[in-house]
Amino acid sequence: MPSTNAKVARAAPEVENVRRAIVQRYRSRTPGSAHYYARASEALAGGTTGNLRFFEPYPLYFASGSGSHVQDVDGNQYVDCFLCNGPLLLGHRHPRIMGAIRQQEDIGSIVVNPPLAVDMAERVTRVVPCAQRVRFLNSGTEAVITAVRLARAYTGRTKVVKFLGHYHGQDDQFLVGLDAAGTAFGAGITANARADTLLCPYGDIDSLQALLGSSDSTAAVILDPAMHAGGLWGSSPEYLQAVRELTRRRNIVLIFDEVITGFRIALGGAQSLYGVTPDLATFGKALAAGEKLAAVAGHEEFMRGVVPGGPAVTAVFQSGTYNDGTAALAAAAAAISEYRELDRQGAYRTLIGRARKLAAGIREIFRSKAVPCHVNQLGPMLQLFLTNAEPHFETITRAPTWPLALFYLALINEGILLSLPTSNHIYLSFVHTDADIDGILSKVAAVLDAYDFAAVVRAACEENSVA
Ligand code: PMP
Repeated sequence: MPSTNAKVARAAPEVENVRRAIVQRYRSRTPGSAHYYARASEALAGGTTGNLRFFEPYPLYFASGSGSHVQDVDGNQYVDCFLCNGPLLLGHRHPRIMGAIRQQEDIGSIVVNPPLAVDMAERVTRVVPCAQRVRFLNSGTEAVITAVRLARAYTGRTKVVKFLGHYHGQDDQFLVGLDAAGTAFGAGITANARADTLLCPYGDIDSLQALLGSSDSTAAVILDPAMHAGGLWGSSPEYLQAVRELTRRRNIVLIFDEVITGFRIALGGAQSLYGVTPDLATFGKALAAGEKLAAVAGHEEFMRGVVPGGPAVTAVFQSGTYNDGTAALAAAAAAISEYRELDRQGAYRTLIGRARKLAAGIREIFRSKAVPCHVNQLGPMLQLFLTNAEPHFETITRAPTWPLALFYLALINEGILLSLPTSNHIYLSFVHTDADIDGILSKVAAVLDAYDFAAVVRAACEENSVA
């Protein structure tokens, strides 16, 4: 809850002037979105298609995308670094993806056991180190549910270790501890649903060891190697290796949730970048470059659970109506071929070089304008923190986020969708160019020239210190 002092700080005249000017300009450029929001509020729950798509004063509604750009319903063009929260690693409407989807018209939307699924599974096993077997499903959430069920069946145990600041989709048992305090994320989650989830700070092997204690009740340790939801802090290879050894010693299944990192921070995901192979891994987002597909993959010994009547464990149930969707499978097969070619051409290096350039450019512009800003970058992803707090998960997640939301809104006014204001998720795609990066940096500078963000961040820091 914001304190009264927070309200006072936000109402400081120089801050209020900045806010009013940015919001007024936003309203004047986006009457079509205002119109859709008014309609949506009477029909679409929450006025959007998901909670994080809302931002104040009203969200943008988008008409179409092409390459690194997206267009809203008013015809405004944006350089798109949100990429629908990550799946569009090949940009909007990539010709190879669109072509693969069109080819499925001769097959139909869905057939049982399409040969495409076989083809696609083979492709995943070729690039993902842990993937001896693959099961396709429809969302990252489903993939995590299945991986955890496999781990429980394999070990005969119930508890799952989840790290603070890590997000693993919408299953009730994991909607907890996205912050450092370990609170439930949103209403409707019962204590029972969370009872088997053990929360642990990330990055400290002694904490994990202490949490596991001497009991034999832990089935799995799950982690997002990017720690994306908690601020994009990434992992150290030594820590991941220590987690790997500890879980192996204790017969605990190690799950890497690679919904964010898969095919993105390296062709083979975090497990190939960090050189640590989990037992199971989950994928979504970039897997099908924008189509609805996810996967759980892993060593045969752990994936055997979904084989009915398999020898080692009692069969684990997993079956989804849309596991066979042909457009998604075709898009994913085309995406993996494209990622492999890009990898051979050195394009991952170029992409990550662009992300580094963007991060360094943003840091330098903020430094030159004396506005506090911390930038995290991992692979082609960035997150910004407008605060003078110590750059650390616990401190930074306590800092107010409204200055950043205002900054992203100001950039939207300049034709840059660096992130949705409520998300702080910045992704580059393979089709972003150096000119896109230069364009973003010049607009970042223009926004800091136009508005007194030093006063905005100062007010937020004061609010934080008195809250
Ligand atoms: N795991 C991670 C690490 C994620 O970031 C997400 C989604 N942002 C999920 C799982 C859930 O994926 P989905 O939204 O496809 O259910």
